[in-house]
Order: sequence, then structure tokens, then C-alpha cells
Amino acid sequence: MQTPIADYLELLLESLGEDGGEVASYIPELANADPDRLAVAMATLDGEVYVAGEAADAEFTIQSISKPFTYALAIADQGLGAVLEHIDVEPSGDAFNEISLDPDTGRPRNPMINAGAIAAHALVHGDDADARVERIVDFYSRLAGRRLSIAEDVFESELSAADRNMALAYMIRSVGTLDCDPADTVRGYTRQCSVSVTVSDLARMASVLAAGGRTPDRDQVLEPAVNRQVLSVMATCGMYNSAGDWLASVGIPAKSGVAGGLMGVLPGQVGIAAFSPRLDAHGNSTRGRRIFERMNHDMGLHLMASTESAHSVSRRREVDGIAVHEIVGDLHFVEAERVLREFAAEPAGETPVVVDLDRVHRANDIARRILLEGIRRLRLDGHDVRIVDPWGVLGSAETGTGELVRGEQAHGGYVPASFPDVASAVRG
Ligand code: GLU
Repeated sequence: MQTPIADYLELLLESLGEDGGEVASYIPELANADPDRLAVAMATLDGEVYVAGEAADAEFTIQSISKPFTYALAIADQGLGAVLEHIDVEPSGDAFNEISLDPDTGRPRNPMINAGAIAAHALVHGDDADARVERIVDFYSRLAGRRLSIAEDVFESELSAADRNMALAYMIRSVGTLDCDPADTVRGYTRQCSVSVTVSDLARMASVLAAGGRTPDRDQVLEPAVNRQVLSVMATCGMYNSAGDWLASVGIPAKSGVAGGLMGVLPGQVGIAAFSPRLDAHGNSTRGRRIFERMNHDMGLHLMASTESAHSVSRRREVDGIAVHEIVGDLHFVEAERVLREFAAEPAGETPVVVDLDRVHRANDIARRILLEGIRRLRLDGHDVRIVDPWGVLGSAETGTGELVRGEQAHGGYVPASFPDVASAVRG
């Protein structure tokens, strides 16, 4: 069978409706972007990337989504204390390019607005912009799992219109929080913003932050403490002057960029990215925002709605030549997605498949609905699916009773026929 996650992402894009807003025009090259491009990607912590949309392979510039990553590298290079002396971590409520410095300390308010991001760029080790940018691109590439490069046309274009960022850099220097040459720093910062990515790259980079700084190949790219600092600042300051509204309504720490990219990190679960160039009044992708709102709604991904960390194992074994999928533990979206992948690996055919839910401890609505859909698709593939569900995990998947914990009985809804145990299911 084909796992339904990719289909879900396609349907999500189809359901978005009319777009609104305008493409960024203050960078001449971005004003020429095709405003209708659209893509979304989701990356799991173990390296699975689901992607949908006609712009799935399109490259666009990372722009401000570079800010959390460069901030991370600055902390890794200098230590958190030194970075905090230069850049505060307070949400400013200001627009991205506001001249926003603390009146007492002169520090930029946070590293997610341009003033703080320019200061963060300057804190990355390297003698000049070129040296810093080389390290920055190497670092982003490790996170993305492939070699990234710079879109030179966008870089030239943005640098030719970088007066405001130049003003910010001179301003920061005047109050003593920038130790590098301002013009060279803006050149480096602008190159950092011009790194070219796809939604899959961004989703994978986000998944590394979601995994506490570790890539799917178990490369610990960021110390967990640095990773946590970056995510905290993204959560409070990542969405410009709509950061508060975003955290409350979407609940996924995120960062947007003026080229239309939007990256979200759900700690311990997934990395998500969207691309659609039209921006709202805050500079965030209009349809990107809607994609995140929908995902939060459909998959229960709000940070503050997360329950305790879940453990589950899905194991396939054969009994008398019949495949038995034994599912154990707590089921939420992430665990259910794994189970789906196990189902997806089952070759189509008429052989019976036993799904044993006897040792599931806890399951939320989303996980139960996903399991039902997986079972439906195994049947469409021709399998005789035999369910062992003595306490009714699947019981009320369609009536939505929230999270079921073992010992509670589900009420109502569609209850698939269940065998009492694996032995009887195997006998059929
Ligand atoms: N390179 C852009 C700038 O500094 C980034 C802004 C953004 O993506 O919000 O103006």
C-alpha cells in the first residue's frame, strides 16, 4: 500500500482556496518570483520526508529562515553567555527590519529580527564575511543532508537594495555591540539569506531541530542546550510581529522568510516546511500560514497540546506463514505514522495480515483514525486483515473521544470485528 501521509499533504494543498497578499518587492529579484508556486514537506526524525505540491522541487532563497540556524552556530562558536551579551531574547513585536535596540543595553531585542540576525552573523567564527559564510553554508548543508549553494542573482539583487540593513549594522556598531566591519557583515548576512533551498531541505533542517540537534544519521550537529535555546527563541520571536498570535493559534515554533518559505519545528515529533511566495502584512507566507493552521487542526500538532513523550514499538513477525503486526505502547501521530510505514512495506496480495493491538496502552483520535485508514488500505491491496483489538482501541475513532487509555472502554462509532487473540486470528 502507499502510506496516506503524502496523499493527505496533496489534499491539504488542494483545499487551501484563494491566495492573498503580495510577493516581497523590496528585493528586486524576489519581486519577479512566480506568486502561485506551492509546496509542503514534512520530515520525521528518522529521516522520512513527505513532500507535495507542484513546487516540490523548486529552489527558493532561505532568507530569514537562516536566522535561527546562524544564531545556533554563533552560540556553538562563542558560548551562550557571550551571545547574550550582544543579542537579547525578548520578543519585540516589531517588524523584521525595525531599528529595534534595547535603550539601556543597546542590544538588538532578539536574533530573529534583522538587527539581531546581523549581530548573530558577526558572532560566527571567521575573519571576514567570506570565511563566515563558508562555515554557515557548511553548517546548513549538514542539517539539510545535502550540499547547499547560494543564489548569486538574489544575493546581488538584495545587496544592491540593502540600505536599511546597512543602517542597522552601523547603528549596532555605534552602540558597541558589533565587533566587525558593518558593510562586510551585511554582505555576509545577505549571502546567508541567499542560500537556496527546497521545502524538503527546510523540513529536514527543521527535523534536526525537532530531534534535539541530531540528524537522522545520528550526527549531533547541535548540542541539545543550544538547540533548546534556538527553539525557545523561535517560539517567542520567530514570526515577527505576529509571533504571539502564531504561537497561540498554530502552536508550532516557526520561522518565515520573505521569499515565501515557512519552517516549523515540533520538538520530538516532526519538521514541517511550506513554500508559497505571497506574504501577509507581517511578511509571512499567506498560504504557508494556512497550511500550518490546517495541519495543527488535522493532526493535533500544537506544542501546548503535546502529551508526555510517547513510546511505542511496532513489530512484524510471522506465525504459520501469516504476517502479524504487533503494536505496543502509546500511539500518537508519530507512532501511527511508523505503523503505517510497516503496513506500507507489506507486499500487496491476498495473504492474511493480523494487526495485534492488544498491547497498545494509550491512543489518541488521530492515531486511531490513521490506523483505521491503514487497515482500509491493506484491505484495498487485497489482504484479509484480521484485527486483534480486545479492549477496543479502534472503537470510537470516528466519534472522536479524545485520548483513550487502556482500561477505558470506547463508546459508539464504527467498531471493527475483533479476534480475542493472535492465535485465533491466525486460525481465521
Ligand atoms: N534578507 C532579508 C532582509 O534582511 C530577510 C528578511 C526576511 O526574510 O524576513 O531583509
